[in-house]
Amino acid sequence: MDTKSKRRWDAPPLTDEACEEFKQAMAEAGYKPEHVLPHGSYLMNIGSPRPEILRKSRECLIEEMDRCRRLGLIYYNFHPGSSCGEISTEECIKIICESINDAHRRVSGVVTVLENTAGQGSTVGRRFEELKEIIDGIEDKSRVGVCLDTCHAFAAGYDVRSDLESVLQEFDRIIGFKYLRGLHINDSKSDLGSRHDRHENIGKGMIGLECFWRIMNDDRFNGIPLILETPAPDGLESDRREIDLMYSLEGLPQPPQSPQAPSQSQTKRSSGRGKKAAGAAAAAASRSEEEEEESTGSDSENSSSAAEDSSDNETTSSSSEEEEEEKAVKRPPRKVARTSSNSKRTGAAAKGKRKAGSSNKRKGPKRKRS
Ligand SMILES: [Zn+2]
Repeated sequence: MDTKSKRRWDAPPLTDEACEEFKQAMAEAGYKPEHVLPHGSYLMNIGSPRPEILRKSRECLIEEMDRCRRLGLIYYNFHPGSSCGEISTEECIKIICESINDAHRRVSGVVTVLENTAGQGSTVGRRFEELKEIIDGIEDKSRVGVCLDTCHAFAAGYDVRSDLESVLQEFDRIIGFKYLRGLHINDSKSDLGSRHDRHENIGKGMIGLECFWRIMNDDRFNGIPLILETPAPDGLESDRREIDLMYSLEGLPQPPQSPQAPSQSQTKRSSGRGKKAAGAAAAAASRSEEEEEESTGSDSENSSSAAEDSSDNETTSSSSEEEEEEKAVKRPPRKVARTSSNSKRTGAAAKGKRKAGSSNKRKGPKRKRS
């Protein structure tokens, strides 16, 4: 979810009424604040070497964190920043830390969650070491965390396709699992180390299903939001299929074969496709009663338009994420009950459910599959 449009600096203020409605919807749907990881503005660059952009970015950071606070949320996720090729990474990181420390002083109770990047252009946060450097510069360590994006990690050179465990161990050694606040679970159109941030549907990209099967069966990810940021050609139907696919991986003794991914473990495409479909269907059937109706109540952004200020060429976001965002805002604006596979939800609600659904489920006893 977003707290305001990701492509505009300005936004109408949140009303007290809207905040109350949101909190109520959260409670009704059974979401806890730690299940929701709002994504920050694409325009923001809190490490910018350009004073005017830095000023606007810092204002934006504070504004969006304050929106989180008022909505009763505790996490706020964003891309660390970009040096624009005009300053060193070290200098950029110093500016980022100053920005975050200042925001922490001005807004209470919200944890800033840094997302790893694919390393496109001059973005900071490609290497775990860079994220660690930022954490080192934050005065209040209890108010900083990390969100790990599988597509970004892969594009940055971390081989989550064939050795997720080593990547996670490196993450733990350099950053520490205690800082992990969420995952962005995306397959990748671009290959390992390409530094191109192009999200693909789960199992259909260069990463393949095995990585996601491992994630769904790893207790280290229990209780944290797992968020899809993948293409949705059929709108909410695509969302539902992919959520079902993720759930279907839980409890499987082996990873299904990826239908299209050039995964190293892939050998039998046709049988893999059958397995996956069967698993997803079983998962959908077994969940049809427990997930009745849900909303994160944050659909107010749907009429927002495109960026007003994209000419500064220092966006810290991925084009892929922006594409997905574009689709999300075009999706139908109303939530409906989830009673069948034809249910429709808003993009925001779908994303909320993806997160909270994953973690809610994973906190409970494992569902048996037959
Ligand atoms: Zn992401």
